[in-house]
Parts: sequence; C-alpha cells; structure tokens
Amino acid sequence: MSLKNVLGHNNAIKILKNEIKTNSVKHSYIFHGIKGVGKKFTAIQFAKVLFCQNRQKLDCCDKCNSCTKIDKQTYPDVTIVDFNFQANFLEEKIEQQKVIKIDVIREVQRLASLTSYSGIQKVFIIDSAETMQRHAANSLLKILEEPPKNCIFILISTGLGMLPKTILSRCELIKFLPLNIQQLKSIAADKLDVIYENSFGSIENISYLEKIIANFEINNLKNISYQQIQTLSDELSKDKELTKFFMFYLIEKMIKKMVYDKSESLFDYLEQFIKYYHLVEYNLDLKLFLDTILTNARILWNKN
Ligand SMILES: [Zn+2]
Repeated sequence: MSLKNVLGHNNAIKILKNEIKTNSVKHSYIFHGIKGVGKKFTAIQFAKVLFCQNRQKLDCCDKCNSCTKIDKQTYPDVTIVDFNFQANFLEEKIEQQKVIKIDVIREVQRLASLTSYSGIQKVFIIDSAETMQRHAANSLLKILEEPPKNCIFILISTGLGMLPKTILSRCELIKFLPLNIQQLKSIAADKLDVIYENSFGSIENISYLEKIIANFEINNLKNISYQQIQTLSDELSKDKELTKFFMFYLIEKMIKKMVYDKSESLFDYLEQFIKYYHLVEYNLDLKLFLDTILTNARILWNKN
C-alpha cells in the first residue's frame, strides 16, 4: 500500500506531497475527521514515503526494507502510539485501554530523544489523540513546544474540540472528509483482501467450515434461530482459526447484502468487524464472542 491507495482525501494528499517536494514537512500534524475514513492509514503511508529507499513520484515503493518494516511496525524510527502500544507498554489488557495516558507520552518523549536509526528522522503517529488525559496532553504540548530534532508527530483525532488549543496552534491541521458510497464500496473490497490474507489457514479448515455452514443452512441469516446460533458458536469456538474463517465468511455475506441494499451502515459495520476480527487474537471467550457477532449480524440482516 502507498499514498496512491488512499481513497479520496485528494486535498490532504496534495498538501503532504507538496511538503515532501518542497522539503517543508512540518514537525507536527493533526489529521482530523470522522472515525474510519483513513487518517491513520494515510499517516502510515506518509511515514513510508519519508523513509522509502526507492521513492517514486513522491510516493513510497511499498517494497523496500523501510516500507516493509514500517508496515509490520518493526521499523525503529516509526512508532505508532495507539491502544495496542499502550497495552504492551503498560502490560495491561487491550480492553482496558480507553484513554491515552501520560506514561505513554513520557515514553514517546524518551524515544524521541534517542538517535534515529535511519539517520533521517523519527515519526510518531499518535492515534486517538482526542482521548489523551489532561496530563498526557500537557506533556505532549511540552514536546511539541520544543520538538526534538528531526522528529515528526502526527496526531490522529476524530475531532478538534477535545484537544487543547495550545496543541492545535502547534500543528498543521489536515482535514479528512467523510467518504462517499462509491469509495466505501471499494474499501470494502480492499479490507476483504486483508482479512482473507490474515485468515489464511488450511484447506482442512475451509472444508470443515463449508460443512458446518451447509449443516446449519445459514445462507439466509434471517431465519437463523437463537438455538442455532448457540450450537453454531459452540462448534466454531473450539478453534481460533476456524472462528476467523467463519468471520471471513460472515463479513463477505454481510458486505454483499449491504452493498446490494445500498445500506449506509456498511462502513460502520466494517469498522466494528475489523476491530472484532483483531480481538480474536486476544484471549477472549470465543463462544460468547461468536454469539454476539452472530446475533448482531442477524439483527442487521433483518433491518436492512
Ligand atoms: Zn520503499
């Protein structure tokens, strides 16, 4: 993926590319706009352009060592500060992360003070910046007031209202507008690819899943009973890979229906789904989890 894969947001991309071209990349940015329009994705692609060893037409190559490592979040000069990062850093559960805490911003400060690995710069992408606690925001403000040399901070925020004005005034604000339905449809297709790649398991899994689906006749979610949901989640929850495969099957079905119905809630559903999908990796109660997603899917199915 690269900047050319960012859907919509031509204005934001134009600004960022122009800054790269004219060597006027700022110390701090706020990418703001409603949830799920691609702010974080754009920030990551932007970081890739900055470090790409084979930059072409002001975009990253997506293949070089830096690009690959940034995607895998293993590139030392690019830190994505989000709830995942915080959970790891504080050794807490991801579910407990609701706000960005001061300890994490202090860690950002520490990392920012270290010499960069590339010798170029360091980039910090701070997701859900609007959730920063007051002390965390103050601590970040101090960093932004005297930014360590060659550091770039990109704050991702759903809105500007929750951020202190003192922070806003230090940053270049880049607005991300909501996407239109055509753009949403193509994102749906993209995300499916990602899920599919991630859920790559075994042929055995696929055929087993096909068997289960055939047994339960869940081609029409409208008619699935509560009892059937229970039995199905009993069966699937025995295996994490199987659960992931099933989710893939379910989302494909839901997307087809929602696109067909021109449902406006498609994108919300997708966002929720991606979150759930990642949660499977954690030690959650798979049975309860499957009960919930199946029940929700049935409600949505009947509503649309
Ligand atoms: Zn590259």
